[in-house]
Amino acid sequence: MIQRSFQDDKPTIYVVSTPIGNLKDITYRAVEILNEVDAILCEDTRTSKTLLSHYHIHKQLISFHDHNKTEKTQDMIALLNEGKNLALISDAGTPGINDPGYELIQEVIKQGYHVVSIPGASAILAALVVSGCLIQPFTFIGFLPRKNSSKKEVIESYHQRIETLVIYESPLRVKKTLEDLYDILGDRQIVLARELTKMFETITRTSLKESLSLEIDTRGEYVIIIEGSKKTYDSSLSIKDHVLQLIDEGYDEKDAMKMVAKKRQITKSDVYKAYKING
Ligand code: SAM
Repeated sequence: MIQRSFQDDKPTIYVVSTPIGNLKDITYRAVEILNEVDAILCEDTRTSKTLLSHYHIHKQLISFHDHNKTEKTQDMIALLNEGKNLALISDAGTPGINDPGYELIQEVIKQGYHVVSIPGASAILAALVVSGCLIQPFTFIGFLPRKNSSKKEVIESYHQRIETLVIYESPLRVKKTLEDLYDILGDRQIVLARELTKMFETITRTSLKESLSLEIDTRGEYVIIIEGSKKTYDSSLSIKDHVLQLIDEGYDEKDAMKMVAKKRQITKSDVYKAYKING
């Protein structure tokens, strides 16, 4: 199925990013689209009213959250059937990223309507780009499970991964999560990005071990960034086999070559030559 977003006038749902704290972090295009659509789906109507009234947007708001998303999805499809255009926003950041939206988007696609992204803020990228950690590749884990045993299992499953890991965490659980991360992953560099874009934004670049003695402010929102495993490679492996091993582990060819260059402290073109040309 090919969607040509702007070449016909099929009813559309726009997935619109809104600020993650600072009200100014919204795009001109987002404001324009929110003013143009027939209705706006949002999580908490009170939260969204604050943002929308700041931009003088007075549209019908439809509440769409985890507890009503199944029934509301059908209502939204009915509106698209009538030729209406909709916008989906969440309380903060990009809808669908640990926020409702995924199932609705799937259904809209299935019904043959357009889904168009209006990109903007998201805590993942805002945190990563200031972390100083390796960005390519990274894995977004989102929230860890709350149940202790499942949480530890999930952390364990990332133990050997050499890419940067990104976790969302509630302020009340940050301390315990840092302890679990240290117990399972050992000492690593981490970055705690707190209250991004807001008055009390705080970026703490430290290690897991040192973080255990930090005073963790239980107010505000946190992203935890963790450097990947420094697992040493088998030095008897040829460069080519090293790349192939990473591809076997699930990395794509380009990322695997990049990681081999970094691990062996050689240039990417040396890896390329050994892998593609001499190999
Ligand atoms: N959809 C949002 C996004 O695109 O980033 C994420 C929503 S999720 C329900 C909320 C989590 O995102 C918070 O618990 C926190 O981990 C992270 N987050 C959101 N805003 C943040 C901010 N300003 N600073 C740090 N973390 C933030």
